[in-house]
Amino acid sequence: MRDGQARVMTVCGPIPADALGPALTHEHIVTDFIGAEKAPGPRYERERAVEEILPHLQALRQRGVTALFECTPRYIGRDVPLLRRLSEASGLHIVTNTGYYGAVGNRYLPAHAHEESEEQLAARWLEEWTRGIEGTDIRPGFIKLGTDRGPLPPLHAKLLRAAARVHLRTGLTICAHTGDGAAALDQLRILESAGVSPEAFVWVHAQNGTDAERIEVARRGGWISLDGYNLGPGQPERYLQAILALKTAGQWRRVLVSHDDGWAVEGETLRGAALKPFGNGNPRPYFSVFQRLLPDLRTAGCSPEELDQLLRENPARAFAIRVRAL
Ligand SMILES: [Zn+2]
Repeated sequence: MRDGQARVMTVCGPIPADALGPALTHEHIVTDFIGAEKAPGPRYERERAVEEILPHLQALRQRGVTALFECTPRYIGRDVPLLRRLSEASGLHIVTNTGYYGAVGNRYLPAHAHEESEEQLAARWLEEWTRGIEGTDIRPGFIKLGTDRGPLPPLHAKLLRAAARVHLRTGLTICAHTGDGAAALDQLRILESAGVSPEAFVWVHAQNGTDAERIEVARRGGWISLDGYNLGPGQPERYLQAILALKTAGQWRRVLVSHDDGWAVEGETLRGAALKPFGNGNPRPYFSVFQRLLPDLRTAGCSPEELDQLLRENPARAFAIRVRAL
């Protein structure tokens, strides 16, 4: 690949951004919410996880999806050998992340996140980029953070500034789980004052904001991730309305859609735990966007080109990195 060519870093290495294809930009494979540092490794058998999850990834491929961004951060069960194994078995491009999740009252932050400076945290995340994650040669394809509602407390502002440093060195896009629109606007302000372009910022869970907030962030250049799509009561209508409001505002090119589906490790046992699909209004993982949202968008007058932009072009632009040496 040429120097300066737009690429996406997958768990199997870099690919040209235009080879990514239709993508779901915010999903999970396995998460473990036992709490930061309580489980040093997976509490399940990887081959059993593969047996359970692989058919759902193969079904996604049959729906024409070729890429999945896995948004589980470290300390919530990020398991990169499992992601590579599933990527190789399914043929799906899978992208993992670096960074820390401060949402839910810091329950998933390791002790050192409280003590270290933004430079020290950035150095840890950069090392995952330069040397690989946890003894593997698998590298992150984006930065994942988590914050609660705004205005951001100093600890979360520090996570943002650490992510800004990593972005400026690597080009990796910053995806921030966000409690509300006030937090999103605060994040954008912190990143811009650190020299980061809004185009490198994804407002994760933008469904927690208002139309006016989403349109403002999109106009400033940020990405609007409507990523909890589900079939719960009133939900398809709510997402459809939010997406069409962005379209009417001329911001279709800033929208990302996904389900936030996945599996969670059950119980507190330290070994041999079972996996359970999240559910969350989606009886089948990774399916509702295809079953309901796309038909609804077609009915609302969206063209095949617009749907292609939503699922293929927008994700490639949001996550493309341009760096000299990979
Ligand atoms: Zn998520």
